Amino acid sequence: MNPPLKDASLFERYSRQILFSGIGEAGQQRLASSSAVIVGCGAIGAATASLLARAGVGRLRVLDRDFVEPSNLQRQSLFDESDARESLPKAVAAQQKLRCINSSIFIEGVVADLIPQNADELLSGFDLILDGTDNFETRFLINDFAVKNNRPWIYAAAVGSYGVTMTIRPCLTACLACLLEGERSVSGAEETCDTVGVLGPVVQLISSLESAEALKLLAGKEGALHGRLISSDIWSGRFQTVEISRDPNCRACARHEFSYLEGDAQPHVTMCGRDSVQIHERSRSLDLAALGARLATAAESVRHNEFLLRFRVPPYEMTVFADGRAILKGSQDPAVARSIYARFIGA
Ligand SMILES: [Zn+2]
Repeated sequence: MNPPLKDASLFERYSRQILFSGIGEAGQQRLASSSAVIVGCGAIGAATASLLARAGVGRLRVLDRDFVEPSNLQRQSLFDESDARESLPKAVAAQQKLRCINSSIFIEGVVADLIPQNADELLSGFDLILDGTDNFETRFLINDFAVKNNRPWIYAAAVGSYGVTMTIRPCLTACLACLLEGERSVSGAEETCDTVGVLGPVVQLISSLESAEALKLLAGKEGALHGRLISSDIWSGRFQTVEISRDPNCRACARHEFSYLEGDAQPHVTMCGRDSVQIHERSRSLDLAALGARLATAAESVRHNEFLLRFRVPPYEMTVFADGRAILKGSQDPAVARSIYARFIGA
């Protein structure tokens, strides 16, 4: 899985990175035997996955719960029009593209929604966790998991023309709860890409900062980490870096209360932006072909591929995944989503 760099072609492949004194041959060797899991393969996740695959990180897992749509293509740099036409799950499309980019590393795309019940299974065993998510519920879940298991992770987010990133090393740096919970909390997290949009360049900027920190950590160059919260508005050209100190009373890294990981609060129906609602159905497996046949006369525009099935009940559109999850587009009302799910998929 991790071929030695003595292999001349691999040495040549990474030669410009090895020449860079911060990495060197030993650093490259470390990267080859390192692993990272990228949670969410939208804009930032896709860009980061591409950079790390190209850099030769030995094992990458890419998790995503969603499928490619035409409105993603403006900023989600791993996907193209055919992925959107086929409604491929992002994790599947990403796996295909990343394997074309670098066939000498191990790459795995996993179509799943990270929730407390599967966090151990999906995140364990990786040296580093990278934020490619679009919501704070999942970020706090990652933070709880990382603090509890003493794994570094990198927070990264972008909306509009603004982006922010911070590297979190449990007990050595502030964590996300130090930053965003409690009295000193920084607000402004309410805007989303679905309400105010997002520019491709800020995604690439934040992903670049996140990926550089990832390379330092995975190459064993912790001394080079910048240790600050970096934020930037790419439209105004403003950059800011702030040192964030640990909160001595932090829920997560001081008191070890992992409320997001314990997850009793996790709802079975959640908003996922852009006028849509997601229904989580744990560990249920659906026969999409049989479901398609059953829905053929009951719903409109029924179509499916091996990963998902989609149908319309105007004005709504429901996409169902093989694991039983569903995303309803056209409403933010959980009751509507539950009702359509119950009527067409069954309890
Ligand atoms: Zn903390």
